[in-house]
Amino acid sequence: MSPEPSPRKRKIMNSVNATGAGPIALDCLVIGAGFGGMYAVHRLRGMGLSLHAIEQGGDVGGTWYWNRYPGARCDVMSIDYSYSFSNEIMQEWTWSEVFAAQPEILAYANWVADKLDLRRSYSFDTCAEAIVFDDAREIWSVSTDTGAVYEVKYLVMATGPLSMPKALDIPGSERFSGKLLQAQTWPHEPVDFAGKRVGLIGTGSSGIQIAPVVAEQCGHLTVFQRTPSFTLPARNRKLDPEFIGQIKAHYPHLRDMAKTTFTGGIRPVSTRPFFSVSPEERRKLMDQAWEEGALQFLGLFADLLFDAEANECVAEYVRAKIDEVVNDKATAELLKPRGYPIFARRPCLDTNYYETFNRPNVDLADCISDPIAEITPDGIRTRERHFELDVIIAANGYDALTGAMLAIDITGRDGARLSEHWREGPRSHLGLMMPGFPNLFMVAGANGPSALANFVLLNEQNVDWIARCITHLRDKRLSTIEPTQTGEDRWMAHLKVLAARSLYPRANTWYTGSNIEGKPRGIPFYLGGLPRYREACDRAIEAFGDFVFTN
Ligand code: NAP
Repeated sequence: MSPEPSPRKRKIMNSVNATGAGPIALDCLVIGAGFGGMYAVHRLRGMGLSLHAIEQGGDVGGTWYWNRYPGARCDVMSIDYSYSFSNEIMQEWTWSEVFAAQPEILAYANWVADKLDLRRSYSFDTCAEAIVFDDAREIWSVSTDTGAVYEVKYLVMATGPLSMPKALDIPGSERFSGKLLQAQTWPHEPVDFAGKRVGLIGTGSSGIQIAPVVAEQCGHLTVFQRTPSFTLPARNRKLDPEFIGQIKAHYPHLRDMAKTTFTGGIRPVSTRPFFSVSPEERRKLMDQAWEEGALQFLGLFADLLFDAEANECVAEYVRAKIDEVVNDKATAELLKPRGYPIFARRPCLDTNYYETFNRPNVDLADCISDPIAEITPDGIRTRERHFELDVIIAANGYDALTGAMLAIDITGRDGARLSEHWREGPRSHLGLMMPGFPNLFMVAGANGPSALANFVLLNEQNVDWIARCITHLRDKRLSTIEPTQTGEDRWMAHLKVLAARSLYPRANTWYTGSNIEGKPRGIPFYLGGLPRYREACDRAIEAFGDFVFTN
């Protein structure tokens, strides 16, 4: 299923191309209008670069433009998940909830775009199709689906880690006579679920947010669960004005402090190992944290992704909570995740997810004992049953981290192909650059902290690093920069050492690429935390030891 065209789909050439004047020559092209792309446009335009930007969607917002499904909400606190580069922005915008819902985050992106006048640099509804490095002229040529071609010195790929929906790998979807919706490309118009028989495929972060909301609106909901997720109660709430006032009074300082924490959030993360406290004390801490909400729970102990025994104790605590909430014992048993460490798949935050299974109009279909076989004209057939449905919602995830980049045919210096460079999984230096792809910069790319960090802060840090590189090139009158193969190899080896110490490889998830058939497996993240990553990036360009330049 391909993304639905946006209502504002307009295949217009931008002004220069419309004149038939041929390729548009610029200093820089930014691809993407999520938080990373938007900041890149603002930052690099401010350096006096001639710059344009393109975006596949009809407007700004990135993931928040596309993910309009019921219940969509960020699992990072709103006061963290927002720009830190401008105190004016921090002071003028006021978040209403601890975890903002999609409409509020999209409104924020639009407000920032207006405030910084970003849209004048964008062509929306425009998709890069092929990107080729011209060795002789040392420029990138970017062809798009509108026919516009850009020739640029610097290319900033802010294409996002979770922007390429996974294809629905269930036969028969084209025959379904009801409504088939995909969470990742949700329609812009409201969907009426009243009285409808709805089937939800997928119980990751998206499915877990959708189920409670749709259950309240529809006639009957069947949740098709393959791998159960661990989910923690978000205990979302309104932010009170006094709290907001205190945050705003100290915002710049708090954001600076957040840059020193492992994930880049204001909330402190414990350094306490699980077994350093008594069983009674652990129990008390977990009970308190469970009642207070997911944020407290996630930060309770420092070693849960490194100590398997500690991890299993916490996993068992959460399984017991499922028993406490879910009335039907067989359903509770099916909802309990087993066979992988808690938090090794992205932890989900929910509002009344387990409670939803106590509703009389909700059933759980276990796709492990009875897998989905096909979508039929009037529902879903599992190996043993047929479920009659009016609506199917697929919340089946993403071709994460590499999907959006590999969807573009990218050829670097001397014919180097990105698809070849990444044949055994994504490789890069710092998640920012690759040998053979000069002046091509990735924002929040694979091999950096990516989705394990506060994404907005990471975007800002990456873009600032790119700005420093470009400044260096211009100051020294250099033409291109790219990392050496040794530099990339060293960074990748470092990633591997950190990953091997952790429990992450023990789970099948988009983190490891195992959610997509045939995708190379690995842990393409930097697991050392945001502060150490920032230091590594700064060190890398102190003397530019692992980079080569052309004049
Ligand atoms: P996901 O975590 O990859 O979950 C996809 C779900 O679909 C899994 O339960 C998967 O089961 C199931 N699935 C896929 N193909 C299937 C099939 N053929 N039959 C049955 N089940 C199938 O994707 P997601 O929920 O969209 O979340 C992806 C990431 O986006 C999250 O981890 C998070 O980082 C981000 N996100 C964040 C938020 C938030 O901020 N709150 C919300 C949504 C998403 P298996 O696991 O068995 O393959």
